[in-house]
Amino acid sequence: MIFRQLFERESSTYTYLIGCEKSREAVLIDTVKEEAPRYIQLLEELGLKLTYVLDTHTHADHVTGAGVLRTATGCATFLGEQAGSDCVSQTLADGEEIAFGALRIKALHTPGHTDDSYSFVLEEGGQTYAFTGDTLLIRGTGRTDFQNGNADDQYHSLFDKLLALPENTWVYPAHDYKGWMVSTLHEEKLHNPRLQVNNAIEYAEIMNNLNLPNPKMMDVAVPANRACGNV
Ligand code: FE
Repeated sequence: MIFRQLFERESSTYTYLIGCEKSREAVLIDTVKEEAPRYIQLLEELGLKLTYVLDTHTHADHVTGAGVLRTATGCATFLGEQAGSDCVSQTLADGEEIAFGALRIKALHTPGHTDDSYSFVLEEGGQTYAFTGDTLLIRGTGRTDFQNGNADDQYHSLFDKLLALPENTWVYPAHDYKGWMVSTLHEEKLHNPRLQVNNAIEYAEIMNNLNLPNPKMMDVAVPANRACGNV
């Protein structure tokens, strides 16, 4: 497996490139529009063909590169069916699998940050990788106060779906603002302050009292992302 973690500074977004060594097919998760030329350069340098671009959810803090990458490479784009976007190549439902070469990504519907939030799970060489979007961050979780977010849903996504994966699963989130790059489920279970709760009510208590300002780009990014980033 070919694997790269890329960072976009403006929105502190992580983009993941996953490629099959044999077939040379590749997938990008959570792209940023401004960075599209860099992804295309890297794909060329690594001798990879972009097959799919996935978004974990409709982002409010940056515009997706899905549309421009599809135009440039002919790849297919994916977003959860709950997003209600009519421009994506294919919508995702819970449990759906996306195969490329010898690799396979499973889409887990993990609502809470938004109602269209998915986590992408990949198993390779006996190791599980979870691309958790804004559902599970490193030592944090994504806010639940807009875009049909819901703390109770997020509690169940975290505790019933993500924490049900193997403890040594690598956690690769969509963002980090402090320089953390990767964690494991075991590490998050022990040290993520948001996971130190006894039930969904305690979790909602934390999430409903965060009082965060809206993201700077929200008014632009949300409608743009429903249109695959084509503004
Ligand atoms: Fe988000």
